[in-house]
Amino acid sequence: MNAPVFPALTEPDAVQAVIALARWCGAKGWVPATAGNFSARIDLARAACTATGGDKGETSEANVIICDIEENLTGTPHPRLSAEGPLHLQLYKDDPSIGAVAHAHPVSAVVLSRRHLSQGKIVLEGWEMQKAIRGITTHESTIELPIFANDQDTRRLGLRVSEAMKDWSGPVFGYLIAGHGIYAWGKDLRETRRHLEAYAHLLDLTLEEERRA
Ligand SMILES: [Zn+2]
Repeated sequence: MNAPVFPALTEPDAVQAVIALARWCGAKGWVPATAGNFSARIDLARAACTATGGDKGETSEANVIICDIEENLTGTPHPRLSAEGPLHLQLYKDDPSIGAVAHAHPVSAVVLSRRHLSQGKIVLEGWEMQKAIRGITTHESTIELPIFANDQDTRRLGLRVSEAMKDWSGPVFGYLIAGHGIYAWGKDLRETRRHLEAYAHLLDLTLEEERRA
C-alpha cells in the first residue's frame, strides 16, 4: 500500500475536482446516456462522488454528493449514491494514496474487456504511451490491466476486485469490467485524468491492432 497523500482536498475543492473530471470525460464522449461516475477524496473517511443519473458531461454542484466511505460500503448507502459508487469507495478504503477515481465507457475498453475476459487481463506492451502510467519509464515494459466479470451487486464486485488486486504484480492504476467500462485512479485529479487517457489510448491502439491482425 502506498503512503497517504494528505492533506487531501477541502470539501468544495473535491466537489470542483469531480465536476472537472466528469465534464472532461463528457467532452471525450466516454460517458453516453448517463454512464460514468467520478469521485475525489476529501479525507480518510469521506469522498465527493457524482450522484446517480444525469448526463455526467453536464455535472454541476447539484449532482455531487458527499459520501462517508465506510457507511456507504457496509451500512445504509446515501439515497443518491450511484450504483457504481461502492466500487469507487472500496478503492479509497483499500488505498489511502488514491485521491481521485474515474469510471467511464470508452468504446475500446468496453469491447476489449469482453474479448479478453477469459484471460482475466489485457496485456499492453511496446507502446510509447505506457510511459504515461506512474512508475513506467520505458516502452520496453509490460502492463497488465485486470478484467473482472460484470456484476450488478457492486458491493460484492468491489470486494472481489479488492481481493484480486492484493496479489496483482506491477503498477496498476485501473481495471476493466467486461462489456462495461474502465476504472482508473491516481493520487489526484491530474494524475487520474492522465492515467485514464493513457489507458483509453492504449486500448484504442490494441483494438486497432487486433482489427488489422
Ligand atoms: Zn458504468
